[in-house]
Amino acid sequence: MVVKNYLIWFINMIKKIQFYLAIGLGIIVKNLLKISGHMATSLPGLIAYFIYPDILKEIGIRCKIKIFVTGTNGKTTTNYLIKTILSKSGSVLYNEFGANMISGIVSAFISNLKQTYEYCTFEIDEGTLPKIAKQLKPDIVVVTNIFRDQLDRYAEIEIIRKKIFEGIGDSVGLLNGDDPSLNLLKGENKFFYSIEVKNELHDRNITLDVQFCPVCGTKLNYEYYTIGHLGKFICPQCGFSNNEPRFLITNVRESDDTILFDFIDKKKGKVKDLNTKRSGIYQLYNISAALSCAMILGIDFKQIKDAVKNFSHRLGRYEEIVYQNKKIIINLVKNPVSLSETLYTIARDTSRKIVVFILNDNYADGKDVSWIWDADFEILSKIENIKKIYCDGKRKEEIKLRLKYTSFDIEKCVLTNLKENIFLLLNEDVEKLYFLPTYTALFETRNIILNAINEVV
Ligand SMILES: [Zn+2]
Repeated sequence: MVVKNYLIWFINMIKKIQFYLAIGLGIIVKNLLKISGHMATSLPGLIAYFIYPDILKEIGIRCKIKIFVTGTNGKTTTNYLIKTILSKSGSVLYNEFGANMISGIVSAFISNLKQTYEYCTFEIDEGTLPKIAKQLKPDIVVVTNIFRDQLDRYAEIEIIRKKIFEGIGDSVGLLNGDDPSLNLLKGENKFFYSIEVKNELHDRNITLDVQFCPVCGTKLNYEYYTIGHLGKFICPQCGFSNNEPRFLITNVRESDDTILFDFIDKKKGKVKDLNTKRSGIYQLYNISAALSCAMILGIDFKQIKDAVKNFSHRLGRYEEIVYQNKKIIINLVKNPVSLSETLYTIARDTSRKIVVFILNDNYADGKDVSWIWDADFEILSKIENIKKIYCDGKRKEEIKLRLKYTSFDIEKCVLTNLKENIFLLLNEDVEKLYFLPTYTALFETRNIILNAINEVV
């Protein structure tokens, strides 16, 4: 008995040493990266996880309520919005900058070390969800949507859906009720959110990812679409349709640069006249998801209203930077749907503008850039007041080629090198500059812009 106790004590001691070694090395690497001007969002966590693989369990023990946000588009913004709402109620551990694999989560922990947290809210890569859920055991899993995304890295929608459902397991599931494949999940603790916005904007040329019934394979009938294949649908063969949403954004009104709307929780009531900065239908889905999550957690209406009103985008998600009298907007684009939606949002802006595409083909962007051919570039020829389109990135020629196959005046399309020509762009005689980088180009683009502005100041 005594020997056994000693053994347990000894093993626990080794584990503790391992844990502190992992954290210690993680902190050293984090500081070294910061000193050398690099982001410390993944590597410190990767090293710590390698030394102490149980570190995720340790994070789980320290967080009272655990929230995961997963899905193809909108994870970062939804997660940030949830964090913004919750931080009024207690300490929140969260990962930002889109580092959503195990290394990103552990890095977030190393950067914000505490004994306990009231909440943690993590955006999680769809593919890694089951593995992380097994160790961290989330209380709520929020799912934004499933679109085709980087097919060489992720698999088709079916496989992603299975991974997401496996990751949700017995946890509370909060899913987008306008996405057909997500409506396959049923259960007492599975809830759906939706938005009531009919899309009267444009003739859309976008490819629908899911247009067939996930139950019987018949083509779905849609009453309306919101984004891509999201919308109100019914299968004429088996009757499969949207689950009744518990949460709903409704009465959407637009004015100048803001959107006004009401939010309904069918169990708890209605919050009227919420407002937020205008930035497309996507943002309403993100808000709907975050508000629904807050309602489930029992956060009060006023706190929610304030958080939404004061929420500003950042980190390359419709991030706005003011330069002299101009507005610079940076928005990450990463798949046909997110790129098309960004172009639709730009289409509603009548001010004089330039649009800058920065297309890379590194691993995190997807090596295969053929996805740009599925995005609705045709809309560009209908947008008012585009003075020029600039193309940069490792695959800039590919973007220009894509534009050649639209009715957009190719004479206005210029290949560039942002680093060398940033001032030329900033000094264009326009009111707005839209920068649309892919994932690995995002932070570099942002740095080039911010450095240039700082130089002027
Ligand atoms: Zn069917």
